[in-house]
Order: sequence, then structure tokens, then C-alpha cells
Amino acid sequence: MRYSLVAEAYEKIENTTKRLEMTDYLVDLLKKTPKELIDKVVYLTQGKLYPDFLGIEIGIAERLAVKSVALATGYREDEIQSDLEKTGDLGETAEKFLAKKTQISLFRKPLTVETVYKTLDKMAKASGSGAVDLKIRLLTGLLMDATPKEAKYILRTVTGKLRLGIADMTVLDALAIAYGGGKEAREVLERAYNISSDLGKVAKIVAEQGIDGIKKFKVSVGEPIRPMLAERLSSPNEILEKLGGKCIAEYKYDGERIQAHKRGDEVTLFSRRLERITDQYPDAADIVRENILAKEAIIEAECVAVDPDTGEMRPFQELMHRRRKYDIKKSIEKYPVSLFVFDVLYVDGEDLTLKPYPHRHEVLRKIVKEDNRISIAKYIITDDPEELERFFEEAIENGCEGLVCKSLNNDSVYQAGARGWLWIKYKRDYKSEMSDTVDLVVVAAFHGRGKRAGTYGALLLAAYNDERDVFDTVCKCGSGFTDEDLQKIPKLMEPYIIPHRHPRVNANIDADVWFEPKVVIEVIGAEITLSPIHTCALGSIRKNSGLAIRFPRFTGRYRLDKSAEDATTVKEILQMYKSQLKRVQS
Ligand code: ATP
Repeated sequence: MRYSLVAEAYEKIENTTKRLEMTDYLVDLLKKTPKELIDKVVYLTQGKLYPDFLGIEIGIAERLAVKSVALATGYREDEIQSDLEKTGDLGETAEKFLAKKTQISLFRKPLTVETVYKTLDKMAKASGSGAVDLKIRLLTGLLMDATPKEAKYILRTVTGKLRLGIADMTVLDALAIAYGGGKEAREVLERAYNISSDLGKVAKIVAEQGIDGIKKFKVSVGEPIRPMLAERLSSPNEILEKLGGKCIAEYKYDGERIQAHKRGDEVTLFSRRLERITDQYPDAADIVRENILAKEAIIEAECVAVDPDTGEMRPFQELMHRRRKYDIKKSIEKYPVSLFVFDVLYVDGEDLTLKPYPHRHEVLRKIVKEDNRISIAKYIITDDPEELERFFEEAIENGCEGLVCKSLNNDSVYQAGARGWLWIKYKRDYKSEMSDTVDLVVVAAFHGRGKRAGTYGALLLAAYNDERDVFDTVCKCGSGFTDEDLQKIPKLMEPYIIPHRHPRVNANIDADVWFEPKVVIEVIGAEITLSPIHTCALGSIRKNSGLAIRFPRFTGRYRLDKSAEDATTVKEILQMYKSQLKRVQS
């Protein structure tokens, strides 16, 4: 197939802003394309060689492409460069210089799509020493054979600037018309695309086998499925009503979404944008390998940073350390992750995407071997708005963003690539960021595990309720302690150990060791939130809810100068909550 046909189609597409016309030109091009080339033409029109998830980019720096234009036309690099500064588009500059080229190549042969694709592919795959020279040579060779118009589009393609404005959905429309028998075929084609993320493959199958081939299309391990997304509502009543009175509510973990594909020992992780991120999370890949009890599976999970000492969830920002390419081993140790699995889309030959969620959840419970690194997203099934609200508060307090409430109805399929009402997220409209430290009383402790065996893993802390002269709990704090602190605290607290909760301590939590309320420490947190567990300011903001400090951290200061009655009061915490309450931007 002549590349000029492609270049001409591009020119027409570029010159229209109407989507329908654009689709017509694309239909035309696709019809002229031999079937065996259709995938390549589809990738090329989007400025690619492969589906995005393979992560193969054509990529040549503009500076180097200028060299090729100079070599192919006989002009000097600085002449090309200065024209480029005027046009801002190397494609246009090249078109101009090719048109007035001084050296006429005697053996110019018409460019074919096959040659262009093959050459660009070689450029994309060139690596190691000599790669730069090879890329320049390959590009120069193409330009020697290209017409000015062809050169324009080749250069835009290789420099990543082919912006024809053809959206995925336009390609699907065009495929439906060209090979699917009409627009009605669009829905089936779209599903095939949503479960494979590969337009070229969809194009090839519909061109070669027609719409029946597409109907047989199945999820397959290694090809990422476009993610299902959630709508948003802001009250439990609205959510329950929308979901038919009852739903499964799950913690909305605050981490990175991961789609894990497992085939035997081979595991690939894809991000929300369907990029391969296995290298960032080799530990998560190991977890999937070991704890997903199926030969082949595709699961979705949120990957969350956890405190290596306490196992508590950490804020989303801590995952950013995983983006660095070097020293990944060190960040794995310093910023370990846990997986919270929330869906399964495929298991051992069975495509589950069209099965209702209760069925998928049941399969999930069978194939996930839970331990401290992986578990199924915490959930409740409820029809009670109050219960939903309490579960929401608990999720926030534990470091989550809120809840994702999901339909349990028969039609609750996995809607790949769509944001719909089968999933509804419930996040906060307001939050109260903490800017000041507080001084809290140590009222109990929990035994440490792992690295903290033999000392305390976390302390239960309380504020002073001066109206009732008691101590109301406000958080469990396990962060910010140095090794030295961990040695010191059990000794410091030993004189105050008592066999039961102290009568002046107002707590709804069971602890391992209780203390007399005597010792005060300084703590800073990220926010103050409503809490279904803690007793601080219980009922002041909402019935049955107290206040808690989220992500609390010991600052290192023991306030031995303060008596327990000098600690921050419940009233002060309530005041901080109210005065720091701000609308969440999102
Ligand atoms: P947001 O910024 O709110 O995460 P989003 O557009 O990335 O928005 P949404 O579909 O609106 O995604 O919200 C769902 C997101 O929440 C998922 O992409 C996933 O990363 C995350 N998540 C965390 N826990 C769950 C869960 N239990 N079920 C589904 N998604 C979850």
C-alpha cells in the first residue's frame, strides 16, 4: 500500500474540524487498506506503532530529526533550524525543503506503508551505543524516498507531533461503518476495545472476521482492561436510593490502582492509565504471584503505602517514592506496600466481566489468600444509611479516602472503560486539616509485632475532658517513635500499669495494657475527623460520632512538665475541628 494514500487522508482529516467528515475520511482510508495492514494503519493514524500499554515509543529528538532533514535535502542544519524557528513545525519545514531539494535522488522508489512502519519500528527498537546514528540513518533513508507531503507526516510522527485529533471513539465509529456493517456495530466494537485496550487488534479482527469475530472477543491475560470508574454522590441516603436500597460498601483506599495480570509465575502490573508499572512494584508482583490462587487471573487492587513498623496505612504521597527509577530496593524497604483487592475480571479461562458483582466477589474470596500484605477491600453489605455513615467515618479515620458503594443487582457487570452508576464513591466534602500539635495523655498500649516485638506497637491517646474530669480517647498512635523511644517508653510507663481500664478513662477500644492517666506526649496529625470509635467530643458534631486525629505522629517531645489535666482539652479539639474545617477541592 502506498504511503501517499495515508498522507493524503491525513491532510484531509487535518483540514476539517467536523467529526463526521473526519470519520468519513477515515472510513475511506480504512477501506483502501489491505486487511493485513489495517492494525498498522490504525496505530499510525494515532501517531503510534503499538497499543499504548506496550510502552514502545517511536521517539527521536527534534534536534536529531533536523539532521536527517539536512542530510536528505542537502541543505545545512542551521538553515533548517532557522526555518523551524519560524514555522514551529518540523513537518512543515521539511515539506518546504524537500520541495526545493537540491539533490535529486536517482533511485527514489515510492514509499509503502510497510516500509514506513518497518523503518519506524526499527527506530523505536534501536538501543545501546550507535542507536542515535542508526535512527538518523533510518529516518534519512525514508526522507530520501518521500514526497514533500509524505515527509511532513513522517516527521510529525517520529517527533510525536502527529496531532490529527482522531479520538479512539472516532476510530471505532469508522471501523463500524467500514467493516462492521454500519453504526450499530459500534457498541460491540467498543466493548472489544474496552476489554483489550488495543484498537489495532480490534480493527484487524473486524476487518478479517467481521462482527462475528468481534462478538467472540474475550478478555485475555496480558492485555489490560480499561478501568471501570465511579460516579459520585454526597450522602448515604442518595447512594442507597440510587443502588436500589442496598449495596456493598467498600473502603476507598488511597493509593494507586493496579490491574494485575497473572499467568503462572509471570505477573504484569498495569496502572490506572494502563501503563506497565511492574518495575515500580516488584514486591506487589511477588504478592500477586504468591497469594492469588489461580493459574491465570486478572485482578484489580489498590496498592497502598503502609508503615513498615505498625502496618498502618500511610498517606498516598508516600507512594511517590516508588516513581524513582533508581534505588527501588531501598524504597521497597522504606515504603512497603499492601494490596487491597476489589475486583476480579478473569480466572483460569473464564471471562468474568459480564458476571454480576456478587458473583465476582465470591470468586475473589476464593482466590485471594489473605495475609498482612494482601486482603480483600474491607466491606459491609447494608441497607441502613446510619451504618453506611459510620463505616464511612471508620474508613476515613483508618487512612482511606471514603467509600466506594457498589451495586449488587443482576446487572452489576464490570463496565470496562465507563464511569457509571454501578459504583458510587462517597468522599468528604469538607475536611479539617490540623496545623498545630496537641498534648495527649497515654492511657493504654498495644503490643508490637515484627520489628516491634517486645515493645509497644502503638499507644492509645486521650484528651482531657475538663467538664467531666475524665480522659476521652482521640487516636491510636504508632508513628514517629525512634528506636530509642521504643526502648524508653515501656520503662517510662511501667509504674503506671493497671490491670483494667482506668475509671477516669472513657474508651470504646480494647487495649493490651492499660495505664493510669499520667504521662503526656506531643502529637501532630494530618486532620481531625469524625470517628465512630473514639469518645472525644462524642455527639457534639454528629450523633454517635466522636472526633479522632488522622495519621497521628509523635513529635519526639515528652511533656513531662505537664500533668494529665494540663493536656489539650476535648473543647480545644472540637474548636480546632470547627475552625479548620474547609471545603475539599476536587
Ligand atoms: P479518584 O480521584 O476519586 O480516585 P478516579 O477518577 O481516579 O477518582 P473513580 O472511579 O472516580 O476514580 O474512583 C474509584 C477509584 O478509587 C479507583 O480508580 C481506585 O483507584 C480507587 N479505589 C480504592 N478502593 C476501591 C474499591 N474498594 N473499589 C473500587 N475502587 C477503589
